[in-house]
Amino acid sequence: MRAIFPESPHFFCIQHFKQNMKQVAREKTFQNLLDSLARSYNPTDAEHLFDIIKVENMRLYDWLIGVNDENRRFEHWITAYAPCPRLDINTSNLAECFNNWIKKLRDKPITTLLDGIRAKIITLHDKNRNAAANIETNFCPRMLKTMARISNERNYLEILAIDGNTYELVDRATSRTYVVRFDDLSCTCGRWYHTNIPCIHVCFVCRYNNYNIEGLYDTRFSTANLRSVYEARMEPIPVPYQIQAPLVRGEIGEYQRCDVKPGDQRRTV
Ligand SMILES: [Zn+2]
Repeated sequence: MRAIFPESPHFFCIQHFKQNMKQVAREKTFQNLLDSLARSYNPTDAEHLFDIIKVENMRLYDWLIGVNDENRRFEHWITAYAPCPRLDINTSNLAECFNNWIKKLRDKPITTLLDGIRAKIITLHDKNRNAAANIETNFCPRMLKTMARISNERNYLEILAIDGNTYELVDRATSRTYVVRFDDLSCTCGRWYHTNIPCIHVCFVCRYNNYNIEGLYDTRFSTANLRSVYEARMEPIPVPYQIQAPLVRGEIGEYQRCDVKPGDQRRTV
């Protein structure tokens, strides 16, 4: 992946990372701590969790820090240090679901494989297009459900200062302060940036000011955007007989079940 997409950020799947971690700590407590650490939205939360791990299990701490290990850099697995929003996607489940979805097609000749995937996608698009057409709200129901959950989170917040578009809040339960800025749509807790969904601090300020928080929702979660995703049509492959199977397998990726063996002559399918 690094060779093909050098400019794209790469992340670890936290489920696989936890499996690897079992070589130094197998207990459920540490699995949960690692989960929280990977999903932390700001460096303060991450450092706090590192401190706990350091006290509880020094071997695990050293393994996680991996001072000389380029492969375990924090930006690869801790949301707080990621160079772009992670949108709460910390696993490779999407890719694995897709691979499982097309599993029965993987042994087929290449044109059958491509057209089979196309057929599955258009069927799914059709189903989702119809579902999206029936949504009556401006934003997707799942987004609205998430927002309802966040805005109902129990909190002990208090607004300390207001400076133009900037609000400083304190959480009386933890004594931590947060700064919400409406000019650059940010909150120092990091959740708004990393999920693209307003955090509890933003919800609190909006309630305080009687602002309509829907105006702050990312339009990518809008119903109009959802509908536009499923508008596209995928036409059948025009001239399948001209598509040729690869001569040899490339160096990247693993060879799995396939009808083209290394060394095969190029075949027209
Ligand atoms: Zn916040």
